[in-house]
Amino acid sequence: MVYNARADMKPDLKGMTREEIADLLVGMGEPSYRGGQIAAWLYDRGAVSFEEMTNLPRGLRGRLDGEARIGNLELAAEAATAALDARKYLFRLEDGETIETVLLRLATSRTVCLSSQVGCPVGCPFCATGMIGLRRNLSTGEIVDQFLRVRARLDEGEQPTNVVFMGMGEPLLNFENVLRTVRILTSREGPSMSPRRITISTCGIVPGIRRLVKERCTTELAVSIAAADERKRAELFPLAREHPLKKVVAAARDYARWTRRPVTFEYVLFRGINDSRRDAETLGRLVEGVPCKVNIIRYNTARPFRFEASGPRREEEFREWIRPHCAAVTLRRSKGSEIGAACGQLRAGYAGAEPPARAEREGK
Ligand code: SF4
Repeated sequence: MVYNARADMKPDLKGMTREEIADLLVGMGEPSYRGGQIAAWLYDRGAVSFEEMTNLPRGLRGRLDGEARIGNLELAAEAATAALDARKYLFRLEDGETIETVLLRLATSRTVCLSSQVGCPVGCPFCATGMIGLRRNLSTGEIVDQFLRVRARLDEGEQPTNVVFMGMGEPLLNFENVLRTVRILTSREGPSMSPRRITISTCGIVPGIRRLVKERCTTELAVSIAAADERKRAELFPLAREHPLKKVVAAARDYARWTRRPVTFEYVLFRGINDSRRDAETLGRLVEGVPCKVNIIRYNTARPFRFEASGPRREEEFREWIRPHCAAVTLRRSKGSEIGAACGQLRAGYAGAEPPARAEREGK
């Protein structure tokens, strides 16, 4: 099992579950309850060094320092919107790569939007992260630490209320580390979040959705449907052929049955591409009968992309066209576009990135 971004390092305890830390401690001749103590220091109290773990014997702290480590992200920059409703953090990883994490502040919620990969292998032609290509998967520790670092910077009395895997990367293509992060965030030694407060957002990786059921995951699931017509979808989503819509929707329906909660279908509106009445009706028929919500999202126009947002009037019309098929339709404008923190805008300092070639995307 790989816990570390770099194999030459001592094992990083941040990113291990309580059971995994306990196994390591038992291997060092210590009682297994130390696993719970250390997990609580890491995930509840946000300790960044063994020295802080004052309920461990001094000698053990010294041994841990020699045999293990606690990985910590370096905050390289941060930016906030004028209204302070969105804040973006640029973190530098131990190998020099960078990622972005976003905090969304609404009246009653604090949502942390986590990255799961450095870049993304999918390469959607409207997405800044996709232009980078995949540089590597994040380790569990690097994903969890985004949450911990953002939490530590909240005002006194504030706590994250929600977590969404909607940052850089396709979470279901880094399945193990995303799922282990969910297990840590929902653990009693950690933030004890309800799985219902965590959303995994995917562009429609069918085996990944199916595996969530097998692994008994009960988080919320959001599935992005670039277009309900396969020909148009293939222009917007490079993996459309491998993951046909019928299979995507069937997997999402089975996930909704398993959790007994609706899934969310996300649909970004692009002017003149997927925003006609016919597109809406095709989408409506596709999701009819599935326990779901449809979330229509305004595209955040950004250079150098050729896509444009449809505009408020068309967004309203599109919503009304879907309604006969699915009652739960919402319009969402993602926050943070003024600081490049909205959906599809994260690029973490790879400003000159070009879209990866098709062969590279497909791992050839
Ligand atoms: S939209 Fe999502 S899946 Fe597509 S390239 Fe961007 S991060 Fe990857």
